[in-house]
This record gives sequence, C-alpha cells and structure tokens, in this order.
Amino acid sequence: MESITHFINGELVTNQAGRSSDVFNPATGAVIAKVAMADHAQVDAAVAAASAAFVQWSATSSLRRARVMFKFKALLEEHAEQLARLISKEHGKVFEDALGEVTRGLEVVEFACGAPHLLKGELSESVGSGVDCQSMRQPLGVVAGITPFNFPAMVPMWMFPVAIVCGNCFILKPSERVPSSSLLLADLLSKAGLPEGVFNVVQGDREAVDALIAHPLVKALSFVGSTPVARHIYRTGAANGKRVQALGGAKNHLVIMPDADLDQAVDALMGAAYGSAGERCMAISVAVPVTDAVADALVERLTARIRKLKIAPGTETGADMGPLITAQHLEKVRSYIQIGVEEGAELVVDGREFVMQQEGYEQGFYLGATLFDHVKADMCIYREEIFGPVLAVVRAENFSAAMDMINAHEFGNGVSIFTRDGDTARTFAHGIEVGMVGVNVPIPVPMAFHSFGGWKNSLFGDHHMHGPEGVRFYTRLKAVTSRWPTGIRAGADFVMPTMA
Ligand code: NAD
Repeated sequence: MESITHFINGELVTNQAGRSSDVFNPATGAVIAKVAMADHAQVDAAVAAASAAFVQWSATSSLRRARVMFKFKALLEEHAEQLARLISKEHGKVFEDALGEVTRGLEVVEFACGAPHLLKGELSESVGSGVDCQSMRQPLGVVAGITPFNFPAMVPMWMFPVAIVCGNCFILKPSERVPSSSLLLADLLSKAGLPEGVFNVVQGDREAVDALIAHPLVKALSFVGSTPVARHIYRTGAANGKRVQALGGAKNHLVIMPDADLDQAVDALMGAAYGSAGERCMAISVAVPVTDAVADALVERLTARIRKLKIAPGTETGADMGPLITAQHLEKVRSYIQIGVEEGAELVVDGREFVMQQEGYEQGFYLGATLFDHVKADMCIYREEIFGPVLAVVRAENFSAAMDMINAHEFGNGVSIFTRDGDTARTFAHGIEVGMVGVNVPIPVPMAFHSFGGWKNSLFGDHHMHGPEGVRFYTRLKAVTSRWPTGIRAGADFVMPTMA
C-alpha cells in the first residue's frame, strides 16, 4: 500500500516511524494509502529547515522570487490534470470540479507573480529639512498553513504563493484525509527552482498543528477549516504571539426575490447547493424565497431537477455529484436529515434513499441530494453547518425579514441575492453582515487579486486571504525616516521632534 510522507528541506522523509492514518477513496470506500502523522520532531525539523532557508530567501530579490513563481505556474498548468485526478481520487469530487479548483488556485499563483509590484513601498520626500520618510513591507520569517479536506490544492494555494513571493518560508499541514496533492505541489515548486527549505509539508493532525502553534520560530498561522478549530487556533496562536488568520465554517443563504428570473435562480441553486456534494465553504445551504408564491414555484422546480441529478464516482464523465469524504461524515450528514424530520421541517427529497448500484462502488460514501422546505430559523438544520448535499428552504415574508434573519446568523461567509431590482440589490449588498456577497451570482468567490474571507464566526483575525490582504498578512510594515549629513543641525534637541 502507498505510504504518503512529509516533505522537508527539499526531500521526502523516508525514515518515518510512529503514527499513520488511513487515506480512503470515497468513491469505493477502500483504503488506498497510509499517511504519516508528524510529531514534534518532524515539525521541529521542518521549522529548522524553513528557518535556515529564510536567510537566503528573504535576501533574494522579489524579481527572482517572482520568476520561480512564473515557472511554477507553467508547471502547474502542465500538471493540472494530474493534480485534478489526485484530488478527485482522495476527495471524491467530480474531475471537472477538481480542475476548476486547480484553476482558482493557479489564479493566486498568477497574482503572486506580481510580487515586485505588490511589495513596492512608499516614500515621502523632504518631510523636513533634508529628511525623507519611507515605508516598506518585509517578510515575517517562517509561516505555516493548516488546510481543510475540501480543497486539497486551492486552499493551500490561497496561502503559500503569496507567502513565498513575499520572502517567507512556508510549512503546509494539509488535511490528513487528502494528503497527496501537497506532495505534487512540493515537487513542482522544487522543479520550478524553489530553494530547499522554502516550502515544506508536514502531514498529520492535531499533534502537528499544536507543535506548529507552540513553536517560537513560527511567526504566522493561516488556517482554513471548521469554526471550533479556527477559534482554537486563533486563540492559542495569538496567545503565543503569532499573527493568525483563521477561516471557519459557513451557512450561506441565497435570497430569491419575486422579480428574480426563477430559472436562473434554480440553475444557480442546483450547482451551488449540490456541486461538490455540498462540501464547499461557499456552498449555498439555505434558499430564502421571498413570498410563498415564489417558494412554491421554487420547490417544485428544484424537486424536478434534483430527480435528474447524476450521482456517480467523480471520475465518471457527466457526473454531477460524487461521494462525501468519509463514512463518518456521511453518517453525520444523514443524522442531520433525521434531525430535520424530527424538528418538523418538510422533507421534500430524501437523499438517504439513494443507493449506489454501480459495480465496485457499492461501499462508497454516497448520499443523494436532499431538499427540506418550511425550515424555521430556530431549527438545528438551519443554525448549524451540515457540509453535505442538503438544501434548506426558509420562506421569508418580505425582503427585510430575509435580511434580518441572515444578519442574525452566527456565520457570515458568503451570501447571494437574485433580483432584477438595482435598489434592492444595493440595499442588500450594503446592509448584509456577510463578508462575500453575490448579486445574481451564486458562489461569490472573489478573484485572486481581491481577498477572500467571511465575517462573524466564519473568520477569526484581521486579514482575509490572498489579494492585497494576503500581502499585508505575510509582511510587516517598517517605516524609515532618514536625514542626510547636509541637513543635520548641530546640538541636541530635547523636545518632541517635529519636521516642520
Ligand atoms: P477541520 O477543522 O476538521 O480540519 C481542518 C484542519 O485542521 C485539518 O488540517 C485538520 O487536520 C486540522 N485539525 C482538525 N482538528 C484539529 C484540532 N482539534 N486541532 C488542531 N488542528 C485540527 O475541517 P475539515 O473537515 O477538514 O474542513 C471542512 C470545514 O472547513 C468546514 O467547516 C468548512 O466550512 C470549512 N472551510 C472553510 C473555508 C473558508 O474559507 N471559510 C474554506 C474551506 C473549508
């Protein structure tokens, strides 16, 4: 059976002893590999390698650093299908969806190629007699990224391209459920000419993460995953003096106004609720039709479309939805469906009825698309993140009731509204307490040159990811005020210096 290991100082670690964990193919339910689980010693080795590499790498010009990224981009394009196949195999998502994920990650690499421009400082000339004031951004040192299972390539690429071109050295701790993509990315970075130690991978779980949080040489932590872990990492990381950005869970709403194009809204909901089996942090898990008339028409059309969904292994052409990530997660999502029934929501389509009959895939972690109507805001299936193909319809009497309900939710990652009315759209975008907003766009993921992040319990910390916020997160600001000899006045000055 394949063994998946760490990548430290430019090499795969082959002498790994200690704990390991099973990696599954969710489409078949079979164990396909064992992944090594790092302990303190491996984390220490990775930090030592990164710290040693930082001396040279931070002194390398931003132009040269960007050139490595340009080569990495070309290699990534060349190996996009290979990477997407790996993602699909370990995660279960449909191959084309995995390719889309690679493209969104690649866009951050393209953004990072602009490092020389992104790192330009500011200069104010002659702020006093012979005095100039300059501000510059410098790298932090060793930084770490801890990533979730649902985007094995894209989420790491939200982080390391920006961190690395800013002059930092990076340690990635990927999800133990989808460990292979990280090693292909490491290999491509090496082939692109990245020096040893600048990018390292430690495989593992909480033990590795706790070692990273405790390590004094790790200066910043980027985390993406569930809210309880995000909160834990933010609190302990900050208590240990680190800069932390920790992105958490979500419950994303899509409001359908009476003037919306209903067919467009139905198309949007099908993809956004059931694409990637609902295992996306920007998946729409709540539809909010405004008025009962809109709700009745919406539920009727959704039901017809759900019945036609093709649920199949992610590798199969034409599949709309693959399996969930693990048997445990499948059980958790199934139990939420039961809770919804017991809470009194109307189960319009029950995904638990789906049975995979394709030979060889009977043991895969499949669940059919599920639709609830008449869900209420106090129900558990509305309040909690389910992270599966379960869409809840919560009917709203009017626009302001819809907005109030969304604003009262603990999560604020993404939201969308479908309407033809500019005034409604503007009022919504302006007043909604959510970090990423779509207007007639179902999954409003910002482009790489903007920044990604939610509000409320969907993000802990001050910086969003990639784009300008990413550059700010991975650099610290320094201001230099200088006076040259011709401007120096004789004698000491005991009052607060002013330049005027
Ligand atoms: P998770 O929180 O279980 O794991 C995320 C990472 O943290 C993994 O690398 C894991 O090994 C590690 N980890 C798990 N438990 C830990 C602990 N107790 N202490 C330290 N580290 C720990 O999340 P997941 O199941 O892999 O991913 C799904 C979650 O991620 C969902 O909640 C989803 O909404 C969220 N997510 C959020 C975004 C976003 O941008 N806000 C993007 C993708 C996924």
